[in-house]
Amino acid sequence: MNVALVTGASRGIGRAIALRLAREGYAVVINYLRNRDKAEQVAQEIRSQGGQAMAFQADVSSFSACEQMIRDVERMWAPVQVLVNNAGESTHYDPEALPPEEWDRILSVNLSAAFYLSRLVIPQMKERKYGRIINMASLRAMTGSAHGPHYAAAKAGIIGLTKSLALALGPYGITVNAVSPGYTRTDMTRKALETRGDQIRAQIPLRREARPEEIAAVVAFLASEEAGYITGETIQVNGGIYVQ
Ligand code: NAP
Repeated sequence: MNVALVTGASRGIGRAIALRLAREGYAVVINYLRNRDKAEQVAQEIRSQGGQAMAFQADVSSFSACEQMIRDVERMWAPVQVLVNNAGESTHYDPEALPPEEWDRILSVNLSAAFYLSRLVIPQMKERKYGRIINMASLRAMTGSAHGPHYAAAKAGIIGLTKSLALALGPYGITVNAVSPGYTRTDMTRKALETRGDQIRAQIPLRREARPEEIAAVVAFLASEEAGYITGETIQVNGGIYVQ
C-alpha cells in the first residue's frame, strides 16, 4: 500500500491534491482541522472511484497532534511515502498591528507544521530509502506582503526548510520540493477575487487565476518516480505574475 498524507485536504488545493493522488493509485489520508463533513466527502468521492482514503482530524500546528496522526496512520495503514504539507492559513494585518500571538500562530500552521510532519516521517523514509516531501509555499514568499508579513515570512521559511531537508535527505533517496502557487480559486482567495478580481487578473500575464487542479498536477508530478532527480526546488505556478 502506497500512502500519501495531504494536510488541509478538506477544501481547496489540498482537496484537489488528494483526489489527484488517489487517481495515481495512492491510499490518501485526508487531514483537516474543523470541516469533518467536507473531509469525509473527499474520502467518499475517492472511495466511490475505487480508491482508498481516510479522513483524519489533526491540528498540524501541534507537534503532539502530528505525532498521534503519524502513529495512527502507520498502525492502520502503512508508513507515509508521500507527504504533502499543504495546510495553511493567511490573515491580514499591518505590521505594527500584528499581535505577536498571531505571528506565532500563522508561523505554526504554515511553517512549523511542515517541519513537525517531515521530522516524524523521515526515520521510516530513510529506512525504506524512498520518500517524497512536497511543501506548499506561496507567491508571497517571493513578493512579500504589506498586510501579511507573518504569512510571507512563513512561506519564505518553507523554501529554506525545503532546501535544507533536500540537502540532508538526498543521500537516502528522499526528494523534498516546494510548489509556490499564485492566485488560486479557493476559499482563501474568494473575497479578494470577488471584490477586485478584474484588477488581479489584469496583473497576471495569463489573465486568470489558477484552478486548484493545476496546482495538484504539479504536486503529482513531484510525487512521481519520474521526478526523482528534482530536489530542493520550488516550482512557481503563478500564471507569470512573478517571473524569477
Ligand atoms: P483553503 O481553501 O483556505 O483550505 C485550507 C485547508 O487547510 C483546509 O483544508 C483546512 O481545514 C486546512 N487547515 C487549516 N489550518 C489547519 C490546521 N491547523 N491543521 C490542519 N488543517 C488545517 O486554502 P487553499 O487556498 O487551498 O491553500 C492551500 C495551501 O496553498 C496553503 O498552504 C496556502 O497558504 C497555499 N497557497 C494558496 C494560494 C491561493 O491562492 N489559494 C496561493 C498561494 C499559496 P478545514 O477545512 O478543516 O478548516
